[in-house]
Amino acid sequence: MHAMTNASSLTYPRIVLKLSGESLGNPREGGVVAEALERIATEITQAAATGVEIVIVCGGGNIVRGAALARAGLVERAPADHMGMLGTVINAIALREALRASGARATLFSAVGIDGIAPRFDRESALAAIARGEIVITPGGVGSPFFTTDSGAVLRAVELGCDAVFKATKVDGVYSADPTTDKTATRYDRLSLDEAVEKRLGVMDASALAMAREHDLPIVVFEFGPEGNIARTVREPSIGTLVTPA
Ligand code: UDP
Repeated sequence: MHAMTNASSLTYPRIVLKLSGESLGNPREGGVVAEALERIATEITQAAATGVEIVIVCGGGNIVRGAALARAGLVERAPADHMGMLGTVINAIALREALRASGARATLFSAVGIDGIAPRFDRESALAAIARGEIVITPGGVGSPFFTTDSGAVLRAVELGCDAVFKATKVDGVYSADPTTDKTATRYDRLSLDEAVEKRLGVMDASALAMAREHDLPIVVFEFGPEGNIARTVREPSIGTLVTPA
């Protein structure tokens, strides 16, 4: 834990770590669960000990997914997405507290500012926090309805000079089909951003991928499951599927 890898030896020394809301809650009931939080905070603290600079973009699917709520017909899509964004702020507060409890220094800047609770994101302050060695948590996605936190992850990565987005998922990479339901699904070790867009492989939604492609931003899709896998993948990104500019 204290043996710091030389950060300059890392392939991607500054990263966005994209965590889904699900990873903070109970797989069936959602919400925010202390055990899940503690585990994820320990994992992130271990990863930070490699010397990598981490910007966390967290989702909110454990609380509200705007599109799903709007489909039920009672709440319109834009306000449902506002609720979704607020959910990501709840997760970010939980993550900040859990990270601090595990000994890390963490600061929150939200795309949707909430006075006294979640200061609004600004690039200069976020860069200054990174320079101070803090883990920066940026909820709220891009701050507008009709987007996802995957778009938020790509936006923050480009804006804050990150070298890649590490997307933590339930499976160990990108597959040709859903491996949980399709036995013929095959795993990609590597693929190009162009292929990811053309084959609609579900790496991220189309607008997030389009922005990654425009800015030549690599995405590493890896499994958040095995203990220590965040730190391991930071050291050795090829553990996941590498989605790279051609
Ligand atoms: N959301 C939004 N704009 C954004 C990011 C998120 O409106 O830029 C809302 C949207 O309703 C989304 C919810 O916040 O469903 C939670 O985010 P997401 O679905 O990306 O979370 P995840 O699936 O990663 O847990």
